[in-house]
Amino acid sequence: MIEKEVVLKPEEAFNEEEVLAVIQKKLGLKSTQDFRISKRSIDARSKEVKVRIKVDISQNEPFPARINYKIEDLPEVHNARQSAIIIGAGPAGLFSALRLIELGWKPIILERGKDVRSRRRDLADINKKHIVNSESNYCFGEGGAGTYSDGKLYTRSKKRGDIYRILEILVAHGAKEDIMIDAHPHIGTNKLPKIIQNIRETILAHGGEVHFDTKVTGFKVEKHELKSVSTASGHEFKADAFILATGHSARDIFYLLHENKILIEAKPFALGVRVEHPQQIIDKIQYKCEERGPYLPASSYSLVHQTYFENKQRGVFSFCMCPGGFIVPAATESGEIVVNGMSPSRRDSRFANSGIVAAIELEDMVDFEKFGSLKGLELQKSIEQNACKIGGNNQTAPAQRLVDFTQGKISRDLPDTSYQPGLFSARMDEVLPPFITERLKTAFKAYGEKMKGYFTNDAVVVGVESRTSSPVRIPRDKETLEHTETKRLFPCGEGAGYAGGIVSAAMDGERCAEKVVEIYQNKK
Ligand SMILES: Cc1cc2nc3c(=O)[nH]c(=O)nc-3n(C[C@H](O)[C@H](O)[C@H](O)COP(=O)(O)OP(=O)(O)OC[C@H]3O[C@@H](n4cnc5c(N)ncnc54)[C@H](O)[C@@H]3O)c2cc1C
Repeated sequence: MIEKEVVLKPEEAFNEEEVLAVIQKKLGLKSTQDFRISKRSIDARSKEVKVRIKVDISQNEPFPARINYKIEDLPEVHNARQSAIIIGAGPAGLFSALRLIELGWKPIILERGKDVRSRRRDLADINKKHIVNSESNYCFGEGGAGTYSDGKLYTRSKKRGDIYRILEILVAHGAKEDIMIDAHPHIGTNKLPKIIQNIRETILAHGGEVHFDTKVTGFKVEKHELKSVSTASGHEFKADAFILATGHSARDIFYLLHENKILIEAKPFALGVRVEHPQQIIDKIQYKCEERGPYLPASSYSLVHQTYFENKQRGVFSFCMCPGGFIVPAATESGEIVVNGMSPSRRDSRFANSGIVAAIELEDMVDFEKFGSLKGLELQKSIEQNACKIGGNNQTAPAQRLVDFTQGKISRDLPDTSYQPGLFSARMDEVLPPFITERLKTAFKAYGEKMKGYFTNDAVVVGVESRTSSPVRIPRDKETLEHTETKRLFPCGEGAGYAGGIVSAAMDGERCAEKVVEIYQNKK
């Protein structure tokens, strides 16, 4: 197999019917069967946007299968001798269940929220009626926080092997094979639910269990060993091991661990706002043209700037950028405002939004010191509640035009937005503490230098982007991944502090499942 790169115009590269013929001609090959695309990325560095495509050219040998994961190869675990309870059906929980099945164990998933379809009604309620269901929302329910999201599938993790495995499993469950070749793959909020449902069907068909509306509210620990968990409806579940994958928003789980004297620690996280520009402004900056035309995808950006406030240096960075997307209300309780972003697979909304957040270190939490390991969580909660109180105790989010924000001026009016519950004009420096607003102001001006046209009053900042990562870590042994003090408990995924995003949470789920089996196989 020989690898070659071809550089195409967007109208050639994104024309599904023509692209193979164009590559064949450029490479002087006899047939479109002689090569296969292995990577695709957009290069917008020069004036003319190009698409770089890598292809593998066959030297008369067959192409290796792109998807090696085969659902039908999974064993049957209905009557497996050993089982593990998985708390939470987010990417970490679902991928740990699939891996347990592969290894011959029976996974039993307990999920507080509803199945992925029923979740939709609760999302409509929060968007249209401002009603927050604390068990079913943008963070809770089948598929976890990642289901109604952009479905971006990139991670900063360098373990490519594992990433490809996660992508393969997603393709085996219905994702397009394009995610295997795109430099920045994404699935889209309209496609993810069906893939999540297919994963659940695989788990059930092979003998796993999935219990919805089943919230874990109790841990029974004896002699430093987790024996069982109990649920809100009074059921007790026992197993050989417990994978705790409840995500960064399950505050009741953090409180419960704390009350049960199961060790948790405060952890640095990041908090800020979501900024929304007309997509056309971002396209104009990134693609250096008035209109991006019918072939180029909505453009994105990634920004970081180091800021100084009271002699402390903290990074301010873009987070979960959603080109052609929507800002969504991601609160998990009434009385709080939390925003996040998502986009459909076509990324065709008129707006580009991104979290812009400042890093918060433990030393920034001094006012919350009395809460000990829960200090970050309480800081995060107080800001979300303040945002809600200022706005009148519903899901209308505080907002300010971007330049007005940096000048401390209330905006007389606000631009159009994708945020369905609506915006109200507020001073963000009354919503957020100074150690965050001052840093954001500095960073936005610096971003304007890097991307000419970004720093404009046509953009709006919306508060608050607070659920970037967990403010709590559940400590685990580096090797065994088991809780440092409580045996048979495996803290997993984003909530425990070991992942940030769909792919890394899924990878951590797999790793926890492997460790469970390695340590407790044949041990009762
Ligand atoms: C709107 C939005 C958009 C996002 N977009 C992207 C993106 O494009 N790309 C990306 O990589 N990441 C994105 N993220 C982040 C991503 O979703 C998370 O990093 C990922 O879902 C973390 O996976 P997890 O399995 O660790 O936890 P979660 O996905 O948070 O799953 C935890 C699960 O545990 C359940 N649970 C909680 N408490 C209990 C309990 N007591 N009993 C039983 N079950 C419980 C919850 O209901 C939930 O289903 C987005 C997040 C949001 C909210």
